[in-house]
Amino acid sequence: MKRSYKLVKRFGLALLSCALLSSATAVYAEETAPGVKGMSEEEFTPAKEVLTVKYVDVKKPYHMDVDSLKGSFQDATGITVPLQMQDKAFPNGGGSIQGAEVKAIHDGITIYFQITWNDPTRNAQAIAIQEYRDAVALMFPLGAVEITPAEHFSPRMGDREKPVNLWHWKSDWEADLLVKGELEDVEERYPNMHDDFNTNPYSPYYHRDLITSIAVLSGGRAADNLISRPGRGRTVEDLNAEGFGTLTTQEHQDVNGCSKFEDGAWTVIIYRSLITQDPHDVQFVPGGKTFFNMAVWNGAEQDRNGQKNISTQWHPAVLEKVAWQ
Ligand code: CA
Ligand code: CA
Repeated sequence: MKRSYKLVKRFGLALLSCALLSSATAVYAEETAPGVKGMSEEEFTPAKEVLTVKYVDVKKPYHMDVDSLKGSFQDATGITVPLQMQDKAFPNGGGSIQGAEVKAIHDGITIYFQITWNDPTRNAQAIAIQEYRDAVALMFPLGAVEITPAEHFSPRMGDREKPVNLWHWKSDWEADLLVKGELEDVEERYPNMHDDFNTNPYSPYYHRDLITSIAVLSGGRAADNLISRPGRGRTVEDLNAEGFGTLTTQEHQDVNGCSKFEDGAWTVIIYRSLITQDPHDVQFVPGGKTFFNMAVWNGAEQDRNGQKNISTQWHPAVLEKVAWQ
């Protein structure tokens, strides 16, 4: 019985969050009318520095974690991506994270991105209303595109008819994987909270229809919303967008990742098969070229949604060919 009531607590919060997000999206749409971006030509010019996605014969560990994988990155050359506050679309803000280092490797099957950045606070829980997570997202244009000052492609969430694929690693999703049921519950945040259902023996009887109905208790879970779903089995959300306010989760989730927070710095490794069957995914070809951009959220600074630390340019990336032995 207690377990059923947990759904009320946990997913009640999820419902509230969805409601808040919906209202935020409505405002977002108003603020992003055509021409509001006011972006400079500089932002349509990709960065000069190219990220080499090094071919490495990765010895895939049984358990994918940063300590097991980081050795594979030792000969890869990283690039430093400067970050700044998001200043074009409401809700804007951020600016506490100045930059991140990105390295990338592939083994002919899987591509791995390692992102490291300084952050004095580990924020890996977003259960309470006032809590926000640390997170990082990579963004890629869909399809083979040329991005030049003459061929505009917004580095900020893409453009209409120029969609992007986003990989959003979330620290609290990783924390979820470590607890029973793979979803941290409200008791984790409020261990001494009062619970009417435990102290009133009549309540479970009179409310049995309510407390056993997932559809009534949790719209998010009934709708199979990834945020509400226990046992996601992954730490990264696979999404698409084509401009501000269009971010949409995908039917086919194909990306995963792992992280380590140590000495005031996050190291996050995000990985995916080079090729997937999903037409909404970016595809990678050894010897080929792509672009990426990124954003970092610092939960301690209340970063969430558009309040984040961003790079204002696309960054070219070239995959080394597979070196057959
Ligand atoms: Ca933080
Ligand atoms: Ca996908």
